[in-house]
Amino acid sequence: MHTVLPFEVYPQHIWFVFDYRLPSLETRCENSLFRAKKFHSQKFNTRAEFEFYETNTLGYQTLLHHFYELRHLGLLYDTFKRNHDYLRISLTDNCNLRCFYCMPEEDISCATREQLMSPDEILNIAKQFVALGVNKIRLTGGEPLVRKEAAEIIAKLSALPVTLTMTTNGLRLHEFVPQILEAGMRSLNISLDTLNADTFTLITRRQGFETVLNNIELLLSHGIHVKVNMVVMRGINEQEINDFVRWTVDKPVHVRFIEFMPFSGNKWQGEKVVTSHEILEHIEKEFSFISLGKEPNGTARKYFVPGSLGTFAIISTMSHPFCEDCNRMRLTADGKMKNCLFSNGETDILAAFRRNEDIVPLIVQSVLNKKEKLGGQFGGDFGELNAEELHNRSMIKIGG
Ligand code: SF4
Repeated sequence: MHTVLPFEVYPQHIWFVFDYRLPSLETRCENSLFRAKKFHSQKFNTRAEFEFYETNTLGYQTLLHHFYELRHLGLLYDTFKRNHDYLRISLTDNCNLRCFYCMPEEDISCATREQLMSPDEILNIAKQFVALGVNKIRLTGGEPLVRKEAAEIIAKLSALPVTLTMTTNGLRLHEFVPQILEAGMRSLNISLDTLNADTFTLITRRQGFETVLNNIELLLSHGIHVKVNMVVMRGINEQEINDFVRWTVDKPVHVRFIEFMPFSGNKWQGEKVVTSHEILEHIEKEFSFISLGKEPNGTARKYFVPGSLGTFAIISTMSHPFCEDCNRMRLTADGKMKNCLFSNGETDILAAFRRNEDIVPLIVQSVLNKKEKLGGQFGGDFGELNAEELHNRSMIKIGG
């Protein structure tokens, strides 16, 4: 006797169940022998039919329980029990600024058109991640809005059942407001390290400070939640910390102070790091504030000056890493998957995709290879860290 069970599920889920996640499912479903009868994939509406032989109620219920559990929890768990449901996709390794901590001083060559993931490749690869439980996608760069097909990619990805967002330097935002609104983006991160026009030119080696400020106003006027990322660097901009906090008092902006981090070619020195402790000490001299804590899977510890319109937060990657509940994966513009910002290994998803191979095993394995903390490359006293010994791309080639 056998039963045919129609089951609305993504094919990768089924594959995962059999090959990776619950290899002992058959033994756990005692007296239930089953096999997949057929898979039919049409975008995300996939019907998989299972044929059961000699099943009994207990086995049937156990199997259903596992499926629901998997669908509920997501599928990309690493060996430290962290679920990965957040994908950052770099659209380009090019940028219209030249921030010294992000882009090496010497001329770097950008990926060629053939090396970049095309808009359709981005969409179809992203779909595979979504099928594995990803529910948030952030577009990054370089600067994502210098990518010629940026509007097309935003529109394509907005059709996926995810929270879509972006990190940008803000210089070209005014050209994309209709597309951003159309895509349902309700929160954007803007990288801005100074509130001083001269310092902006010093850090970015380009003009454009006023444009970025105007574009932040433009987003606010459209009701978009604006987070401003400020990389704090000793001797460069740490004296502006309280100017940024004052900004949050008067404007509904959410400033995030980010500790300086080591990347290939960014002239990292431990002494340039202004730690979270130092940042808070600095702010305490002028403001009273309340801690709002850290959201689950979040990177920032948030604070609030009573009566202010915005908030401020600290991302303390160097002094207090927050890897314990990390849920992030990255896809570089040339289609390499990085399981951590500091991972020295990469998985060539795009090459496999172009060979028409199943990329799901590669994604799963990359997540399983993820190290506990900071890509396994450093930890402890960052003052001792020799950035030259790190194996990683430059920030602009990772996408932050
Ligand atoms: S350093 Fe790596 S593991 Fe830690 S939070 Fe960042 S991406 Fe996640």
